[in-house]
Amino acid sequence: MSNISLNLTPQVYDYLLKNSLREPKVLQELRQQTSKMSMAQMQISPEQGQLMGLLLELIGAKNTLDIGVFTGYSALAAALALPANGQVVGCDINGEWTKIAKKYWEMAGMTHKIDLRLAPASQTLQALLDEGKANTFDFAFIDADKLNYPDYYEKSLLLLRQGGLIAIDNTLWDGKVADSSVTDENTQVIRKLNQALHHDDRVTLSLIPIGDGLTLLRKR
Ligand code: SAM
Ligand code: CA
Repeated sequence: MSNISLNLTPQVYDYLLKNSLREPKVLQELRQQTSKMSMAQMQISPEQGQLMGLLLELIGAKNTLDIGVFTGYSALAAALALPANGQVVGCDINGEWTKIAKKYWEMAGMTHKIDLRLAPASQTLQALLDEGKANTFDFAFIDADKLNYPDYYEKSLLLLRQGGLIAIDNTLWDGKVADSSVTDENTQVIRKLNQALHHDDRVTLSLIPIGDGLTLLRKR
């Protein structure tokens, strides 16, 4: 028994994918198209998409938030895991990247489940609160600009029902959060948020070392 997480060598990672990944063809194709883009590394990994799908099933999610859409992988993985009457509200500001997203949502027959709002995510989340949608969402995936993470977290927490789940991506930030010599603004914001979440008794939490670090928070 080891008390440290296994360092995923390429060989072990390949084994993990070969022996557990169930990625629908449309998501594979989306990943392939995105891999040709210069910002491809922004896309979540397929095993992380699968984990989020499992979490959505576990909590019986119907209404979800996808904060940071890019080419639409996380939103589509969520839509595919939701029941027929499920809804994903997607937040992004980039029309070019989300055009690719829309193409794949259409191919997957999931367009009707995804409500893309092209505006700064803080504004969209505030609009949802103003529409009286507090305590109505089951799940939020936070993966947009890092400087606004604290605001996205607070607003998501208000929008979530009790027992709902927030997943915050990149909380290990390529290890930079653990290196005190790194002091750029993004790193400092994530580091400070991680510290605050650790002591936030409104939620139950776990920081999972998958991808670039994924913090799961259940609203108490
Ligand atoms: N979740 C996506 C996926 O599965 O592929 C990856 C999201 S990517 C890391 C971050 C996205 O956040 C980009 O598409 C970017 O346009 C968007 N973004 C940046 N600033 C934003 C803001 N203020 N409001 C909403 N979206 C923003
Ligand atoms: Ca991310």
